[in-house]
Amino acid sequence: KQLLLSGKKSHLALMNQYAHFKKMEHLVIITATYGQGEAPASAEKFIQLVKKNPQKQAFDFSVVGFGSTAYPNFCQFAYETHEALKEVNNSTALQEVFTVNDQSFESFNNWCSVWSEKMGLPIHLEKPKLVTTSKPASTFKVIHKAELPEDDTFLLSLKNLNGSKPVSGDLLSVVPAKGERERLYSIGKVNTDTLLISIRRHEKGLCSNYLHQLEHNEKLTATVVNNRNFHFPKYSKKTVFIATGTGIGPFLGMIQENIKRKEIHLYWGARTKDAFNLYKDYIETALQEGKLTDFKTAYSRQQSEKIYVQHLIQRDKELFLEVLKKKGCIMICGSIAMQKEVLQELQQLSSKYLGKDLSYYQNRRQIKMDCY
Ligand SMILES: Cc1cc2nc3c(=O)[nH]c(=O)nc-3n(C[C@H](O)[C@H](O)[C@H](O)COP(=O)(O)OP(=O)(O)OC[C@H]3O[C@@H](n4cnc5c(N)ncnc54)[C@H](O)[C@@H]3O)c2cc1C
Repeated sequence: KQLLLSGKKSHLALMNQYAHFKKMEHLVIITATYGQGEAPASAEKFIQLVKKNPQKQAFDFSVVGFGSTAYPNFCQFAYETHEALKEVNNSTALQEVFTVNDQSFESFNNWCSVWSEKMGLPIHLEKPKLVTTSKPASTFKVIHKAELPEDDTFLLSLKNLNGSKPVSGDLLSVVPAKGERERLYSIGKVNTDTLLISIRRHEKGLCSNYLHQLEHNEKLTATVVNNRNFHFPKYSKKTVFIATGTGIGPFLGMIQENIKRKEIHLYWGARTKDAFNLYKDYIETALQEGKLTDFKTAYSRQQSEKIYVQHLIQRDKELFLEVLKKKGCIMICGSIAMQKEVLQELQQLSSKYLGKDLSYYQNRRQIKMDCY
């Protein structure tokens, strides 16, 4: 908007759409970083595309990275993008990579001032009004804690004593100690006022251990964060859930909410069969009640050869292809490493059998992810 107001033309595209831009003089990249320093899905092909599409004319570029310093690989993909662009002929880095921590408007504005000064353009950004998607803090009471002696995961059932009305797939933000940053946990809503969170206990983790030591009837103050891109899709007739470990948490709630008994297939990966005991009752009841169509597991350490959820996608490809073709939805929750493998499998199916890039379905919100 600001460029248009200054009488300049601009073209806005996803990083995966990088091509020969005949008239490009200035390139601005704004990118997040995903997982352990990887590209976001919409930028996965960018580095390759930069190499494949040299520009005939000279251009300058500037890279802005969005991220959070709470992660060790803060803005790593922004730095990789900068390096890749520096390597190509005709390009000039206008400035070093600029980083923006935790959506800081001030940092972004600083970048904008420096950039616009170099461009000789008067650009003034207006501070956006704060839109909070979080509801006010609520009080929860621990009504049940289930854990397995041989496993490091546990399930907390929380009764919502006041306030917010979460939906399965929303996140619970917990601040484990004063001055600490928040930690997020995926919510499964199992009935009107009971939430379920599945937590993996980290050996020296502050919040996971804080939650673990909570006793029956003890209270917890936490904030529900709206995560609307990960709610159960009402329109989808056929849905596949894919999870590893604690990633099953939000799905336990979504299955409960399936009163229309739509087709839902759940794929779950864990190291051993024993891990399933934590969720057994929920899954078996849902199967009996017809709220869950089937439940397929991949236990990586149960047999001599390693089986992971992504292997099941290959095996059951007919189902996955049908879900994609018929506007169904695939939801993925759990580890980032699993997400990467699953997306790769889906990408292969999609291009081989449907002649489409997976981004086609992602753009239609048929693939939803919440991985950590
Ligand atoms: C969108 C989202 C959804 C999530 N959903 C879930 C969920 O449903 N379930 C779930 O279990 N988690 C979930 N997480 C992860 C969760 O938010 C926390 O990151 C996780 O519980 C670890 O927090 P912590 O405070 O226990 O560990 P932290 O204190 O933050 O420590 C992080 C890591 O560092 C290690 N560490 C800490 N101190 C030391 C030390 N002194 N020496 C060596 N190592 C150390 C810990 O062992 C741990 O592995 C989610 C995250 C996101 C972003």
